[in-house]
Amino acid sequence: MISIEKLNKSFGDLHVLKDIDFTVKESDVVCLIGASGSGKSTLLRCLNFLELKDSGTITLEGEVIEKDSHDLNEIRQRVGMVFQHFHLFPHKTVIQNIMEAPMQVKKLSKKEAEEQALVLLDKVGLSDKKDVYPSKLSGGQKQRVAIARALAMKPDVMLFDEPTSALDPELVGEVLATMKELAEEGMTMIVVTHEMGFAREVADWAVYMHDGKIVEVGHPEELFNHPKEERTKSFLDSVL
Ligand code: ATP
Ligand code: MG
Repeated sequence: MISIEKLNKSFGDLHVLKDIDFTVKESDVVCLIGASGSGKSTLLRCLNFLELKDSGTITLEGEVIEKDSHDLNEIRQRVGMVFQHFHLFPHKTVIQNIMEAPMQVKKLSKKEAEEQALVLLDKVGLSDKKDVYPSKLSGGQKQRVAIARALAMKPDVMLFDEPTSALDPELVGEVLATMKELAEEGMTMIVVTHEMGFAREVADWAVYMHDGKIVEVGHPEELFNHPKEERTKSFLDSVL
């Protein structure tokens, strides 16, 4: 479970996250939607401490997480993140990408890291690509490697920031299928996405953000079909 209370974040004079309150229960999948600039990425980045919040509380599995009392590497092990542009290590092969953090951060032996990586590669359907460099992969394959790499740290929560937005349309499905499988296995997930089909099918909750605030939360079907707030309505009209 991950919960946020009164989270605030500014960049200079720009107040980007405004008193965000939000709880994601164990095994829940939340889709976060909202216009460009509404603060979705900043929220995810604060949860993973890629950005430091100005104020508020982040609680992970019942434990309040603060940068002063926690090692940031430890936090990032527990909160996995997948980005729009994959961020794979270009000079490492697929399997090396997945083995790197478990060996460096978790001090797994090479053998243990390799065994685990092979299981994860099988899971994302890329066993045959294990010795290939990222430049030789399609976008969808790169993203599935990125997901396997994040899973290798055995995170409590996975954050996805528009994981399919950079992909050619025909490659979106394979990545969403991998994410759906993960959701079905009970992973707690927060997903920024404009894939409404995925949100309807997989998410337990949809959250609409506007101008640094959470405006509305509901079951996807309900929020998409019967938004209560005027701002949610006009956003949905513009994207659906
Ligand atoms: P998009 O849908 O375009 O990805 P978003 O909802 O993810 O948008 P954020 O990237 O969180 O929005 O940005 C929220 C606001 O904060 C924007 O006005 C953005 O310009 C600003 N911002 C984000 N990161 C920084 C930064 N490092 N320095 C200064 N301003 C930033
Ligand atoms: Mg963003």
